Order: sequence, then C-alpha cells, then structure tokens
Amino acid sequence: MKVHIETMGCQMNVLDSEILRSLLASAGMELVDDALSADVLLYNTCSVRDQAENKVHSHLGRACGKKANGREIVIGVLGCMAQRFGTELIKRHRGVDIVAGPGQLGRLVELIQLVTDGQGPQVALDSSRNKTHADDVVEFLDHYRDPNRCHLPGQAYVRIMRGCDKFCTYCIVPYVRGPERSRPPDDIIEEVRRLVDAGVTQVTLLGQTVNSYHSGSTGLADLLSRLDTVAGLKRVRFVTSYPGDFDRAIFQAMRDLPKACEYLHIPAQSGSDNMLRAMGRRYSRGEYDDLIAAARQTVPGIAIVGDFIVGFPGETQADFDASADLIRQSGYRNSYIFKYSPRPGTTGAKRLADDIPEDVKRSRNRELLAVQQEVSLADNRALTGQTVEILVEGPSPRANRQPNSQNQLVGRTRTDHIVVFDGAKNLAGQYANVKITNATALTLFGQL
Ligand code: SF4
Repeated sequence: MKVHIETMGCQMNVLDSEILRSLLASAGMELVDDALSADVLLYNTCSVRDQAENKVHSHLGRACGKKANGREIVIGVLGCMAQRFGTELIKRHRGVDIVAGPGQLGRLVELIQLVTDGQGPQVALDSSRNKTHADDVVEFLDHYRDPNRCHLPGQAYVRIMRGCDKFCTYCIVPYVRGPERSRPPDDIIEEVRRLVDAGVTQVTLLGQTVNSYHSGSTGLADLLSRLDTVAGLKRVRFVTSYPGDFDRAIFQAMRDLPKACEYLHIPAQSGSDNMLRAMGRRYSRGEYDDLIAAARQTVPGIAIVGDFIVGFPGETQADFDASADLIRQSGYRNSYIFKYSPRPGTTGAKRLADDIPEDVKRSRNRELLAVQQEVSLADNRALTGQTVEILVEGPSPRANRQPNSQNQLVGRTRTDHIVVFDGAKNLAGQYANVKITNATALTLFGQL
C-alpha cells in the first residue's frame, strides 16, 4: 500500500510525520512523495491560523472530488484540525475516512486497516485535558523513529513535552494538544543516544512552552546538562520558550554548556501591556525587557527570535508602536509576524470583537516586517568578515532555480543564522567553517 503524507504547521507536526513514516514503513507500507500515486493520503494539519485550515479544506475538497469521480483512495485528516473539527470533517467532506487527533497517531496502522476492511470512517480523538504523559498513544514511538527519516541530514527534532496550560486568549493549542506533560529525562537521553549513534549531531528539543519542561526534579537547565554529556552530540537547541516564569538557570546553562547553542526563540506577541493583558500573556512589557536583558548579559552572542501578532482586538496605534519599539530595542535576529485571526473556541473569539479592519492589519503587518528587516540586516551585517561554523543542510533552494547557483549549499550557525556558500553536495550533514562576505536581511553569504 502506498502512502503520501502532507505536513502543515509547526515542528511538532514535522516530527509527528517523521514518526508516522517510520511506523507505517515498519507495517510494510510504502511512503511516496507523489500524492497522485498514493493509495492513502494523509494530511497532518495545523489549526493555529484560519489560513492553514482553509488550505486543508481546499486540499480535502480536491481529494474527495477525485474520490467521487472513481479514484480509490483512503483519505485521513490528522493532528490539530482533526481534534478541533472531529466528525464534522466527515460530514463536510464526504470521502474523508480517518480523523485522528495528535495523541492518536500511534493507532494509524489499525485505523487504515479498519477502513480498508470496509468498517467505514474511523474517528480517534484525544478525550480530555486530564491526560498524563502515559496517555499519549504515539509517545512510545518516539524511540523507534528511523533516523533516516529526519527532516535534515545530521539533525533531529526531539519532543520533550506536549501540550500547554497557558491558554493565551487567541490560541487553540491548549484545546487541541491538551495539558502540559513532560517526558521522563531518561527516555529523552535514550532517544538522543540512538539518534547520535545513527549520525545525528544536532538536536532541537521541542515543546509548546519548552522552558516549562519539568519531570520530577529535572527542569530544562538540568536536562541540558545531561544532554551535554552525550558523546558525539555537538549542538542542542530548544524551541519555543514562554516568557513568563523563565528560570534564569537556563541562561547559565546556555553560557556554560558547550553543546547548548546561543539561540532563544521567545515570542513577545506584543510590546504593549494593554495587549499582553488582553492576550492573557502572563508577563508585562517590563518583565519581558528584563528577560531579554538578562539573556544578553548572561549568554554572549545570543541570537533572539520573536513572534508578534498585529491587529489583535482593540490594538491602538500606540499599542502597535510599542511592538515596533520592542523589535528595535531587542535587536531580534528575526521575528515571525502574523495578523490576528479569531480561532473558534478560544476566549478571544468568544469575548473580543475582531475590530481591527483587515487593511489596517495588513499595513501593520507590512510595517512591522519592514522594521524587523532593518534590524535583521544590521544583525547580519555585523557578522561580515567573521568566520563561522555551520552545519550544512544541503543544496540551497536557489540551486535548482538559478543556472549559476548549482553548487550553492545552505547551512546554519549555532545562532541559527542562514549561510549560503559554494561547496560539494556531500558536505550535507557535516560542519564547515565559512567566512562571511556579504549579508542581506535574511541570509549571509560566504566562502568555505
Ligand atoms: S503559550 Fe500561549 S501561544 Fe503558546 S501554545 Fe500555549 S496558549 Fe498557545
């Protein structure tokens, strides 16, 4: 049986799809890149923004249309949208056979089997927010991921926790991914050892609020210390951090542990206290400023990446200006900037009118991006003339598009700066020293 998986959304979904590929392959199924040749089409979905959901609805519309016209195919919706919509997906798209929430992916072989045996559509959802780590059907599978199915050569995502307890008023994640639950540290170390044995040298620890990681007496700083002792591992990163309750021992670990990278993704979402309160973020602008100052003071050369929402209900020009000011002041290496869209089921959607006109959201989005570009360009230019160590990912995306760029490779520094340079393709997964010769806001260019 040939299976094609389309993955949307965050790194958690990328990791879940990698685990699924291993699971399906070990059950004798063939994973194919070409959706047209597949017998089973799986969509691993994201509910964070309505745009992401609309994309899945149109994929499903097309796939179900082909099925109605006689193509024999099993169609499955997995992940956050499956959890959010449940059986409604089957009613809305006649032809969907499987709906499986994020904690149910370990049952996928069984669900596909039931459908092909003629048992009709299958729905497997996570039942409640009273879950513990042991309830995650897919969790035990993390150990058995085939390292050859990792997203990039020599690199792997490693989940250290699931879910979220913060309930920011705009966010659907706590409803679809359940409560915060951390994996036991021994399991994580064991998984990393297996990955390193298979050639991985860089791991990125994943959690929705990764700095809240806590298993027994082990916090994130302790986990970083333990990972630092894994022979053969060279780099450890962690994403995404929540600015409230940030344990400063994590910064000390980043400073002192050779394998902990100087990189922090820590979404502010807004620079205005009014907006932070309305968003249900549990910190003030002043506390966020202090946190960034402590990070810069403790960890030399740290790169900080932010997230912002523009056009949140009630956002005034002054609130927006405070976000632009925060970007300038914090010197972010990069920011992910999004227009607010209400997510059904969240407190924001229930209680706050989506009162900022779309054209204002668009122009604020553009304006904030432009401010970030200026800051990113200054940050990148500061690296010109320096020699940096990069982990090579493989051919640059430009290599296929431009005739004189065939030898272009892309890699990343410890601080996650993107570097493009000419080199041999077999450097993928290796470390290389590159002298930076030129910089744009997004990319550094250099020579081996
Ligand atoms: S911290 Fe807030 S934005 Fe992040 S996943 Fe939790 S609820 Fe969503």
